[in-house]
Amino acid sequence: MTWSPPLREELRGVEPYGAPQLDVPVQLNTNENPYGPPAEVVAEIATRVAQAAGRLNRYPDRDFTALRSALRDYLAAESGVRVAVEQVWAANGSNEVMLHLLQAFGGPGRVAMSFAPTYSMYPEYARDTHTAWVEGHRHDDFSFDLDHAAALIAEHRPSVVLLPSPNNPTGTALPHDVVGQVAALVGDGVLVIDEAYAEFRRTGTPSALELLADHPNLVITRTMSKAFAAAGLRLGYLAADPRVCDALRVVRLPYHLSSTTQATALAALAHAPVLLGRVDQLRKERDALVRWLRERDFAVADSDANFVLFGRFDNRRAVWEQLLDHGVLIREVGPAGWLRVSIGTPDEMEAFKDALTKVGRQ
Ligand SMILES: *Cc1c(COP(=O)(O)O)cnc(C)c1O
Repeated sequence: MTWSPPLREELRGVEPYGAPQLDVPVQLNTNENPYGPPAEVVAEIATRVAQAAGRLNRYPDRDFTALRSALRDYLAAESGVRVAVEQVWAANGSNEVMLHLLQAFGGPGRVAMSFAPTYSMYPEYARDTHTAWVEGHRHDDFSFDLDHAAALIAEHRPSVVLLPSPNNPTGTALPHDVVGQVAALVGDGVLVIDEAYAEFRRTGTPSALELLADHPNLVITRTMSKAFAAAGLRLGYLAADPRVCDALRVVRLPYHLSSTTQATALAALAHAPVLLGRVDQLRKERDALVRWLRERDFAVADSDANFVLFGRFDNRRAVWEQLLDHGVLIREVGPAGWLRVSIGTPDEMEAFKDALTKVGRQ
């Protein structure tokens, strides 16, 4: 008998998502924090995980109340906005948080929307939840095109609009007035502001958390994968109206956050200032790289994140490959002609600049 798996029609031939995980000396391709957790945090994680391990025969706290409360306190300290514990939700990475949002608020006959260049995972959440996907565009300088967005939203009436701020892959943050106006345009739908990179924003750039009280349809997602130096933990979260969190409880798998995940996240949050201790240095490193690239006449998008989008190249693939030959892995992503580099340690940035100088423009 010849048998092949009964794969859904729309999944046939689709490649799994993911940046290449290559073993090269300088990895600047997935926007991780280059600094591992300090020894004191590792020790605290080990202690708390050992405690959790002693109770592994039991299911974890399904509502992860202690963790929600710690995340709430962290958000208040970071942004000055204090929400209720019932307004916080978390899952295994903000990718799972967003899948929950699509499971609850997308679905057959509904539309999810974003504006390119945007995060390349969004269409996959839509596909996996049988939600139609509509992608508009930004202005050529990557700023938000409100008139275009208003027209597209009026035409398709999306139930979910996803906007990263700072945007991946461009680094562009959204001003308050844009977020407020899009929230109004989205009306009965939800507007998800994906603040995966919020901690890296430049002084004076606001967080959309400040708008939460005025817009019940606003959802702000965050993650511990980037500034928090905990990509391996898989912990993302959001702040929203409590009714949004109640809806997500319906679609989540029971006990989706393991005891060890909760213990690790609590240990990390107890040491938030230490884990975030390198953020200022990474921001300075980013601003220095932007200047360095501009001095050499590269086009560079303003960045509020821990990466920089630069170009423009006639053959970006060749540049990407030749940087790799020099041991430097960056990301071929975003509009044609551009490349994205994550901010690493000073040594890594030197290696990147040396390699780029050798490779030159193509
Ligand atoms: C990295 C990133 C995330 C974080 O994903 P996790 O699942 O939390 O690791 C979310 N949104 C954007 C735009 C990102 O670049």
